Amino acid sequence: MKIETLAIHAATKTDGSTSAVIAPIVMATTFERDTDGGYSKGYIYGRASNPNRSALEKVLAVLEGGADAAAFSSGNAAGMAVFQSLAPGSHIIAPDDMYHGLRNQLKLMFAGIHKFDFIDVNNEVELTAHINAHTALIWLETPSNPLLKLTDIKKIAAIAKANHIKVVCDNTFASPLGQRPLELGADLVMHSTTKYLGGHSDLTGGALITAQKDEFWEKIQQVQQMGGAIPSPADCYWLTRSIKTLPYRMRGHVHNAQLLAEFLEQHPKVERVLYPGLPSHPQHELAQQQMLSFGGMMSVLIKGGVEGAETVVNETNLFTSATSLGGVESLIERRAAVEGPDTKTPQNLVRISVGLEHIDDLIADMNLALSKVEL
Ligand SMILES: *Cc1c(COP(=O)(O)O)cnc(C)c1O
Repeated sequence: MKIETLAIHAATKTDGSTSAVIAPIVMATTFERDTDGGYSKGYIYGRASNPNRSALEKVLAVLEGGADAAAFSSGNAAGMAVFQSLAPGSHIIAPDDMYHGLRNQLKLMFAGIHKFDFIDVNNEVELTAHINAHTALIWLETPSNPLLKLTDIKKIAAIAKANHIKVVCDNTFASPLGQRPLELGADLVMHSTTKYLGGHSDLTGGALITAQKDEFWEKIQQVQQMGGAIPSPADCYWLTRSIKTLPYRMRGHVHNAQLLAEFLEQHPKVERVLYPGLPSHPQHELAQQQMLSFGGMMSVLIKGGVEGAETVVNETNLFTSATSLGGVESLIERRAAVEGPDTKTPQNLVRISVGLEHIDDLIADMNLALSKVEL
C-alpha cells in the first residue's frame, strides 16, 4: 500500500472492547496479571511499553520501511540512546554542521566516554582518513541545518558497510516523505518528531527506526525502557493522530517552499537562496537522485547584513519569529543569533520553515518585509 494509506491505517484498528473507531489513550501505568501470573496481552508496566506507544512505533516503522521503531521523549533523547548504546571508547564520525543540540550533547555529555570527529562527511578522502579500528558510527544529517547541505547517503553507507560501521541518518528535515534513508543503506533513521511528524508545534518527541532487529537495536531498546526517556501515552496518541495527515501536509510544505524559494531567488534584496529544489543549489542533482521531494525548509541570505536579515524577521507578519520547524504555521529566524557566538552560520542568514498558509499570502507578506530592507 501507499504511504497515504499506511499513515492512516498502520497504527490503529477499531478498539475491540468498545468498537470505537479511534483507539483510546491508555493512561494506565500498570496492567493486570493473568491468573497464571502471566501477561497474555503483552503489557506489564508503562515505562516498558504502552498500547499508544506500540501503535505509534508501528506506524513509524512502516513510514520509514524499517523492521522496528522506538519512540522517545525528544529528538535529543533518541540521539542520546544511540550514543549510549555504543561500547565505551567508541569512535563517532559526525558532520561538522550537525544539529547543534546533538553536537553539544556529544561534546558536553559524551566527552570521556566516546571519541568523536566532526568533519565534512561528504569529502570521501577526509571520511576514509578518519575511520579507525574503533569507529562504530557515522552520523548523517541531510539536508543539513541550516545550510541545507546534502550528504550522499548511499555512497557513505557503502563505505560504512565495508568497515562494519553503523550509519544513522537524522531524517528530520526531509521527513519520511522526502527521503528513505533505510532504502539507501542506512542502519537507523532518527527523527525529531517535534517537527514535521508532530506538525503542529505542540508536542516534543523523538524516534529511531531500524532496518534490522539486531544486537545494536536490542541495546537501544534497553536504553529506551531502562533509561525511561519515553513519550507519554497522550503524546503518543497525538503524534499518531498527526502522522495520519503527514503525507498531505508534506505536499503542501513542499509546494509552498518551492514557489517561495523561486520568488526569493529573483528578488533584488536577496543575495542567495539555499533550497534543494532550486537548480542553483550546488547539489541539486544529488537532491533529485536521493530525495523524493525537497522539503519545506530553506535558508535565505538577505542583502544588507545582520540589519537586513533582522528587518525581514521583524517585518513579516505571517512568518513568526521563532525557532523550530515543521508546523503548519510558517516560522522564521536569524539562525546565527540562535546558535551563539562560535557559529559558522552567515550572520545574514534567515532560516524559514514554510508553513501551510496560502502561498500567495506568504509571498505577499515576504515581499512587503523585503521592501523595508534598506541597502
Ligand atoms: C529539532 C532537531 C533535533 C532535536 O530534536 P528535539 O525534539 O528538539 O530534541 C535533532 N535534529 C534536527 C535536525 C532537529 O531539527
